[in-house]
Amino acid sequence: MSEQELNKIVELEKRIRELEKDLIHDSLTSLKTRAFFEEESKIYISTTNNINSGKRHDWFGFKDLSIIFFDIDYFKKINDTYGHMIGDSVLRDVANLIKENVRVGDVVARFGGEEVVALLLGASESDAKQKADSIRKKVELLTFESTPELKVTISGGVAESFPNVTYEGLLKNADLALYKAKGTGRNKVVTFSEI
Ligand code: GH3
Ligand code: MG
Ligand code: MG
Repeated sequence: MSEQELNKIVELEKRIRELEKDLIHDSLTSLKTRAFFEEESKIYISTTNNINSGKRHDWFGFKDLSIIFFDIDYFKKINDTYGHMIGDSVLRDVANLIKENVRVGDVVARFGGEEVVALLLGASESDAKQKADSIRKKVELLTFESTPELKVTISGGVAESFPNVTYEGLLKNADLALYKAKGTGRNKVVTFSEI
């Protein structure tokens, strides 16, 4: 093989790796995509179920996991007041803050527009609530250079695994808790067991 051909192969392999990375990351926030989140969550959920039912040896080191469903409060108003470019940068900053405040190995994804989901491995509902609340407080402190008066808040819904939990069931419980947080004032975290 000529050096030229070899260089071409190296170049193509690099391009393939870039494309693979793009496939599982959201381009605006750099968080994981919703599809990737679903796939990963299903693997961890089924492993958790197998460990808890004794079908699998606990090589994982944990028996529970939790999901936090975050949603930026009044985000439409932020877009309407400051424009979509500022809206985008708020979304990026909030996404980054969430990502930086969970453990390595936890999965954080952009679920939809201004919604972020986090899968916390080995976290009980109360662990996850604490984590979500500390993130919520950090979001309150965010400042934005071009719009210093802008204050942003988020709400969160938390749900933990239960026997024979499914991805859909876990997500639904977190979503119901988020709905409650929205309906009872926003800028708060509610757990499924609280509703
Ligand atoms: P709530 O407190 O109930 O969550 O109110 P909200 O305004 O945040 O919720 P709503 O669902 O009414 O509006 C969400 C807004 O998010 C509307 C949509 O235009 C905006 N949005 C979704 N994706 C993006 C995005 O990628 N960038 C920007 N700038 N805005 C987005
Ligand atoms: Mg929303
Ligand atoms: Mg919102």
